[in-house]
Amino acid sequence: MGPEGIRILACGVACAVRYRFERGLGLGLPGQVIHTAQVEVDAAPSDTVELHFGRRVAPDGFVWSVPLRRGEQSRLKVGVMARGDAGAHLERFLTRPDVSARLLGDPGPPTRRLLPLRPLAKTYADRLLVVGDAGGFTKPTTGGGIFYSLLTASLAADTLLEGFGAGRLDEEFLEATSGAGRSGSARSCGWGTGCASS
Ligand SMILES: Cc1cc2nc3c(=O)[nH]c(=O)nc-3n(C[C@H](O)[C@H](O)[C@H](O)COP(=O)(O)OP(=O)(O)OC[C@H]3O[C@@H](n4cnc5c(N)ncnc54)[C@H](O)[C@@H]3O)c2cc1C
Repeated sequence: MGPEGIRILACGVACAVRYRFERGLGLGLPGQVIHTAQVEVDAAPSDTVELHFGRRVAPDGFVWSVPLRRGEQSRLKVGVMARGDAGAHLERFLTRPDVSARLLGDPGPPTRRLLPLRPLAKTYADRLLVVGDAGGFTKPTTGGGIFYSLLTASLAADTLLEGFGAGRLDEEFLEATSGAGRSGSARSCGWGTGCASS
């Protein structure tokens, strides 16, 4: 480290759904995103997981509910993944008479989050790889990204180690090593192909 700051040899971008760095680095945004909202609320006991579909319930997505217990208290997690205002779709669902009759408390404001459903067009650059939600690596059907974040982080680490060994951290090497050179898994994660669902 000198007076000018820290010298970084390589960087992994892993700061999830913010896209400030990706935009600034000219990597673009995920090819597709969807809105989500979820709440947890006291509810009558149940042992049924539910999925609700339909354009009026959740356009391009679905509503889910999962019963759980916190100590002695039965609760329900309810969430929606949908195009548009997910919070409004969730509120509409929770106020349906057949649903509200099962709730024993006020759900309160939902946790909202944008989910990437397709990777960025480009998830590599000189000395840089993007992993996890930051790269838009998720399961396209649900937006779940725990598996893909671990997988892409592990592949990125292997790729950077190879790059250090070869003395190459340039974009061309990182693309070839992480995307084309690593069997099907990296390819299906999008490095070098930009497609998570194939
Ligand atoms: C309510 C909810 C339920 C979910 N359920 C599931 C599920 O059941 N199954 C599933 O597979 N996925 C699920 N997901 C998605 C899953 O959580 C993400 O896909 C996964 O956590 C992505 O991992 P990540 O490491 O890319 O990002 P994250 O786990 O979000 O980690 C990013 C980290 O970067 C940090 N960070 C952000 N900006 C900066 C910065 N500028 N500098 C330093 N650090 C920074 C953040 O604080 C955070 O710790 C769910 C998500 C939500 C919101």
